[in-house]
Amino acid sequence: MREVIDVEKLDPDFKYEIAKEPGGEMIMRCFACGTCSAGCPVREIDDGYNPRKIIRMALLGMKDKVLESDFIWQCAHCYQCHQRCPQDVRFTDIIGAMRSLAIKDAKKKGKRIKAPGYVFARSFMTCTELFGKVWEPALLPLFFLGTANLKGLIDYMPLGMKFFPKGKIRVIPPVPLVGTSSKVRNIKKRAEEANK
Ligand code: SF4
Ligand code: SF4
Repeated sequence: MREVIDVEKLDPDFKYEIAKEPGGEMIMRCFACGTCSAGCPVREIDDGYNPRKIIRMALLGMKDKVLESDFIWQCAHCYQCHQRCPQDVRFTDIIGAMRSLAIKDAKKKGKRIKAPGYVFARSFMTCTELFGKVWEPALLPLFFLGTANLKGLIDYMPLGMKFFPKGKIRVIPPVPLVGTSSKVRNIKKRAEEANK
């Protein structure tokens, strides 16, 4: 389906904003060859995901569309595109710059990021902070409630219930709640300080 671009909403400075972020410096080198999209493993399972298109959208100035999209949270950081790009655009790092701008933009607007990829990453972090590792009985409710998708949670329940008797999912959290995940919290704190 063709996408209609509202030129009134384009922000010509968006590419410069990205270029100023660590990792975003090379964005303007892209000549849209599509090599990144051709080798991307995420695109292999979801053809709506398209690194070349994300860069085009950013260069055109589609700031809100890019920063509010789920695409920027779907990249698996495998560095395939990074290695193959003939222009050394470093798309993996550009995605990092876009994520950083998305977080800053949401904070500025006082908005919550609702993109499922972001909510999943947050839920994952919350789990590791609480339990020291992922514990699915907490991860899935955090994710589905965070995306306001109660139906998704209900749909997954029968599958989850099959795992308990086989010991694939623990009924009890993997570690005591207090004091065991301070290392994870310290890593997060240091990362947040480094990003200030
Ligand atoms: S491979 Fe590099 S130059 Fe080609 S579209 Fe992707 S980012 Fe742009
Ligand atoms: S780093 Fe991201 S965009 Fe690039 S190939 Fe891997 S998953 Fe795709």
